[in-house]
Amino acid sequence: MPIDHSLPYDDSNIFAKILRGELPCNKVLETEHSLALHDINPVAAIHVLVIPKGAYVSWDDFAAKASDAEIADFVRAVGEAARLTEADTQGYRVLSNTGKRAGQEVPHLHVHIFGGQPLGPMLAR
Ligand code: 5GP
Repeated sequence: MPIDHSLPYDDSNIFAKILRGELPCNKVLETEHSLALHDINPVAAIHVLVIPKGAYVSWDDFAAKASDAEIADFVRAVGEAARLTEADTQGYRVLSNTGKRAGQEVPHLHVHIFGGQPLGPMLAR
């Protein structure tokens, strides 16, 4: 069920539980402010999620409230996760679903990295 990203942060979401160590994950990279993990239900040969450790619902929430250090760390973590998974060697896609209309399911900011195969058009028409 897509979430309404205008709602306040709900710390019972799956990624908050992973960050608290209550649920396991297949980690790619951990930095001071970010975590990269393999998606539990990959839709591409490489499908990695990168999340900030802070409590942010969406990209715009993060952009408005996160510190410069968190933002720099997160952007670098996305690039580093692409390199570590070798998604960078053949091209990859970075995507962040925000809110109901974009189909965001987990109300904690996450960026998807897709790669390892041809990715097709950006949106189905
Ligand atoms: P969204 O639709 O919100 O952009 O993407 C949420 C993503 O989280 C989906 O691709 C889904 O497969 C992934 N996901 C959901 N639950 C878990 C989980 O427990 N662990 C991991 N690693 N990924 C999850």
